[in-house]
Amino acid sequence: MPQQKITFGEMRTAGVRGVLVYCSDYQCSHSMAVLADRWGDDLRLSDIEPRLVCTACGKRGADVRPDFNWHIKSPIGGMGYR
Ligand SMILES: [Zn+2]
Repeated sequence: MPQQKITFGEMRTAGVRGVLVYCSDYQCSHSMAVLADRWGDDLRLSDIEPRLVCTACGKRGADVRPDFNWHIKSPIGGMGYR
């Protein structure tokens, strides 16, 4: 069983609006900041991980973590979501 993470609703309650997405391939180690508004409050961060595709290497699957520094950045594109 994959590790369960907090929901987007819980994350937004904590004042975090974005996530950091890390490629699951350590040799790629691509990461990007993604605005989380598109995902519903009931979804867990771990729920979308298998559905993300790395824009750098094309590998499916990622590690998603709350971006607690979101407010000091601006959105920079997004990771492919299907
Ligand atoms: Zn990658």
